[in-house]
Order: sequence, then C-alpha cells, then structure tokens
Amino acid sequence: MRPDEKKLSYPWGDDLPEPGQALSMADGVRWIRMPLPFALDHINLWLLRDQVDGREGWSIVDCGVSREEVKDLWEQVFDNALDGLPVLRVFVTHMHPDHVGLANWLCERWNVPLHMTMTDYTTARLWSLPPGPNGAGGPNGPAAAAHFARHGLRDPDSQEKIRQRASYYPGLVPAVPDSFVRLMHGDHVSIGGRDWRVIVGYGHAPEHASLYCDTLKVLISGDMLLPRISTNISVFNYEPEANPLPLYLNSLRAYDDLPEDTLVLPSHGRPFRGIHERVAQQHSHHAARLQEVLNACDVPLSTSDIVPIMFRRELDLHQLTFAMGEALAHLHALYYEGKLNRSVDNEGTVRFTRVSES
Ligand SMILES: [Zn+2]
Repeated sequence: MRPDEKKLSYPWGDDLPEPGQALSMADGVRWIRMPLPFALDHINLWLLRDQVDGREGWSIVDCGVSREEVKDLWEQVFDNALDGLPVLRVFVTHMHPDHVGLANWLCERWNVPLHMTMTDYTTARLWSLPPGPNGAGGPNGPAAAAHFARHGLRDPDSQEKIRQRASYYPGLVPAVPDSFVRLMHGDHVSIGGRDWRVIVGYGHAPEHASLYCDTLKVLISGDMLLPRISTNISVFNYEPEANPLPLYLNSLRAYDDLPEDTLVLPSHGRPFRGIHERVAQQHSHHAARLQEVLNACDVPLSTSDIVPIMFRRELDLHQLTFAMGEALAHLHALYYEGKLNRSVDNEGTVRFTRVSES
C-alpha cells in the first residue's frame, strides 16, 4: 500500500462484491463492481433504494461499458441484488465510457429516465455518434493524433494507432438516451425519501456530478476523489487551450464542509473514510508535480519530453495518451500562472520554458 493510502480507513477491508452480487454499504445503498477492458480493470457502481411515483425499486448510479459480459453481469444483479424490485432511474456521474456506456441499454431495459448534467449528457451524445462529419471522436482519431504530434508525440506507430481509434468512444458507448433529466450543482434530489445533494466538479470531465446524502453521511464521489490513484486531469484536442488543473483543485473545495467521517464511495478502488486527508493529498500531489515540471523546464521542453519525468514506468498507448494529457495540464497550469513561456519550434512542436526570475 502507498503511504498516502495508509492514512485513509477502509471499513470493508479487502472485501469486494462478488461478480453479479451486491454488498450493502449503508441503509439502502449497495455496491457492485463491473470489469473494464483497460489497465484500470474495474468500476464501482451503486444501487440506491428508491421510490418514484408510488413505485418501490432501485436507482442505479453509473453503468459500466457496453460489453456483452457486463450486460450479463447486470442481469445477475437484477436477479440477485434488487430484492425482486425494478430499476426506477439511472444516474450517471459523468460522460466517460465506463460510467455512461450502458446507460441507454439500462434505460431501455427498464423504461426509465437518465439523470445527468447537461454538459456531460450532450458531450456523451455527440461523441457516441459514429466517426465522420457529425461524429466528434473525443480524444481519439485524426484530430487527436494531430494534437499529440503538436505536443511532440510523433512516432509513426503511436500516431497510426491514435488515428485508428476514432471509433473508440462509440465502441464503448454505442448510444445515449434521446432525453434526460438535468442535474445541476446544488440540486437536491430525493432518492428513497432521502435528500441527496448534487456537487458539480470540473477538470476531470466537463461537468462531473457527485452525490452527497447528509442523513447517511455518504458521498458518491465518482472520479473526483479516488483512494489510490489521482484523478486524471488532461488537456485533449477538443479543448486544446484548456486549463483543467486549477478547475479540479478548486472544485475539491466543495467537499470542505462535509463531515470528517463521511463514507466516500469512489468509482475505482475501495470505499474509504478520510475525505479531508484525501483532498489534502490531491493538493500536495499536484503541487509536487507542478514543481517537478517547472524545474525540468530550464530548457525548452515539449509535453512528450515531460511524460517520462512525471511517469517513470512503462505505459501502454491508452496510458500514454492520458499521460500526455496530464503532462500538458500541468504545463498549462504553470503557463497560465505566468511561470512558463510557450513557443513553437521550427518543426511545429510546442515547447515550454521557465520564465527567468529577475
Ligand atoms: Zn472519469
């Protein structure tokens, strides 16, 4: 276990829900896990006991990617974990494929509405279209390859693979429902007679929603706060001038007033207590990374030069694209703070250099 992880407490220890089964977390709150086809091999999803228009049942929070094996596991969950009751609503924290992938299938399967923020709903709908004149492709495909080349990732093999991945998002999110119920920051949603507050955060996804229930002292944090890995904060081709790192760190302030003993239910890793410690760890982690990047930029460096400085391990292509995005997010934070200069060299590569202190 990493030192930071040891400062958190894990009420369920190493217990995990069995595939297709649920583990009870709190009154009316159950935990299920689904496999993912990435290095990060699982996602946590949540079942909330609910009541809508006089009907008893369950709300689902997040969905898993669109794969037959995940649908099969959902069918087992429906058989085993819902006490014979139906699904009444689907909530999605944000538009990443592991969260929204099966939302359309679940909403159609149960004829129920999707609840999501406006920005993440519309982005998911756009990216789920097939590549072509109307498809957006997200951080994959030719536009992404050009973006990464501009930031120094030029090797032909990576370039070709990124170009070929234009169908990546629609492959994992083949459809998004054609209507939704909008979640906004500060909304209070009644789920099973309990009040859940919507807390929107930025920097990881366009408009990420987490859900907090004060009665239960439970926070469904989505990807905004994870116990082991730091949340991915990236600059990608679709918003090349973005500055997501301060957006993310400022968003974490919304958790400052939650009780110290809040049970945090994250999308990856184990449920934990120690929310304020984990928020402080995020601030110190990124402060250290920013200093490291700043120190390296005594000579003009591209984003791809920064990747091996920040990530000292072998990366597969999926991890490399996220590492590029993350490195550029740190460079942009320093650039917008006035600590780095930006220039473009003769080959068209963007480079960053430390502003001399005089
Ligand atoms: Zn995410």
